[in-house]
Amino acid sequence: MKRTYEKPIFLEQNVGFANKFQSGYYEKMTTKIDGVPVKDIMDNFGSPVFVFSEKTIRETIRKYNRAFKTYYPKIVFAWSYKTNYLGAICSVLHTEGSIAEVVSEFEYEKARNIGVSGDRIIFNGPYKRSGILKQAVEENAIINIDNFDEIYRIEEIALQLNKKIDVGIRINMNSGIYPQWTRFGFNYESGQAFSAAKRIAKSENLNLNGIHCHMGTYIVTTKAYMVETVKLVEFMKILEHQLEVDIEYLDLGGGFPSKNRLKGVYLPPDFTAPTIEEYAKAIGETLLANVSPEKFPTVYLESGRSIIDESGYLLTSVTASKRLLDGRKTYILDAGVNFLFTTTWYDIPVKVGIEIEGPAEDVTLYGPLCMNIDVVRENVKLPPLSPGTPLVFNPVGAYCVTQWMQFIEYRPNVVMISESGEVEIIREAETLEDVIARERIPERLTKFEL
Ligand SMILES: *Cc1c(COP(=O)(O)O)cnc(C)c1O
Repeated sequence: MKRTYEKPIFLEQNVGFANKFQSGYYEKMTTKIDGVPVKDIMDNFGSPVFVFSEKTIRETIRKYNRAFKTYYPKIVFAWSYKTNYLGAICSVLHTEGSIAEVVSEFEYEKARNIGVSGDRIIFNGPYKRSGILKQAVEENAIINIDNFDEIYRIEEIALQLNKKIDVGIRINMNSGIYPQWTRFGFNYESGQAFSAAKRIAKSENLNLNGIHCHMGTYIVTTKAYMVETVKLVEFMKILEHQLEVDIEYLDLGGGFPSKNRLKGVYLPPDFTAPTIEEYAKAIGETLLANVSPEKFPTVYLESGRSIIDESGYLLTSVTASKRLLDGRKTYILDAGVNFLFTTTWYDIPVKVGIEIEGPAEDVTLYGPLCMNIDVVRENVKLPPLSPGTPLVFNPVGAYCVTQWMQFIEYRPNVVMISESGEVEIIREAETLEDVIARERIPERLTKFEL
């Protein structure tokens, strides 16, 4: 067989290591996911394709529950829908006992649609549309109020329905991390949160029964959670003492990191991110040291990213290679930033999906979009790849299949590998019909000659 000619180029050879962690050899291969060959999945479900491991999801949420309940009995995980709201994924987590955490009408309806009852839904977010807010009130959802205008709107709804309803408030605080998120909820240190609580406590139709705080995302210090826990418990005591309310729950939000690799961070996550056991210890021991033994509030955790990220893979194929003018080797893949929105912040680890020999080289990976921004990875060491070679991106379980775009390309199949190794479609690839179903072309524009 005649081998294809590739123009020779001269490359500077670096002896030794680029830095302490990046060896001169490319990362290992991922040829199977839960025992199923990557190649088989792509042959059967196309390329690109998202793959979720049910086994990993279940193992993770069980590990989290175990870790926290070792310290504190009344822990309830609430699944953050915006992290991944595919029905099958949410259902796996609901079968493991997680309730739902939603931040919009769409997400609320999605949770109801797959069978979550209203009182098992935590309704957060800076804007809750009136229609769905009313439904949430009627269905006794756990509602965390974000701002004063929302207090007035909920009060009005309660008045209309002629009932007294339970509400929580979201607060933000200085827990020692930067940047401090101050735009969500009421500020604690300035006294704004207390004013809001006082306003609610004065209401005939509202009953303040919970405090919520979600500090941010990918928080790599357990210390921040200890400060958060101390302040939430402290605020609970202040409210119960001064306003004579009964706080039934503290909601610590989400924010634990995954094993994804943040851009611009020198150390890999294995070195920078604490384990879930360390977070559980920090939060659990702080809770036990601060809440009074007569009354343990329910503690909600809304962890999203760290629960689901590792369970998700994107399988994509090399479609072409190209040497740029500066000698850099690049590859064009069949999936780009349209499906990997999170590449904005993370250098998502990528491995080869089949066994390949050859010297590794620093390459850039582009997606298929005719857009300059479509860069999936830069400076990644890979062996020579021919068209058709499968690549495996992992972790991509968090925020990818919710923030993906139907832009230029149809969105691909999403499959899940069951615990017994069956591969099932959990979201079908889109077709032209899906994309144009909502379009309307005015009659006068339906005929043209070119
Ligand atoms: C996004 C979000 C979460 C989940 O955050 P992670 O960082 O993915 O754990 C939890 N709670 C609220 C209110 C959120 O907005």
